[in-house]
Amino acid sequence: MQCHYCDREAEVAVEKDALKVGLCEEHFRDRMSELADGDFVEGVEQDLDIDRES
Ligand SMILES: [Zn+2]
Repeated sequence: MQCHYCDREAEVAVEKDALKVGLCEEHFRDRMSELADGDFVEGVEQDLDIDRES
């Protein structure tokens, strides 16, 4: 998968508003810092909860 914001290979894939987007490490960190209080981080935390419980 390609990064949603640049042409690099995506390091992670995250779901936002039911859309799956790939992010390289640099842009993933950008999003995390910009949206630290928003739905983006909530979605990531929910994914982590699912992994822990299963
Ligand atoms: Zn990128």
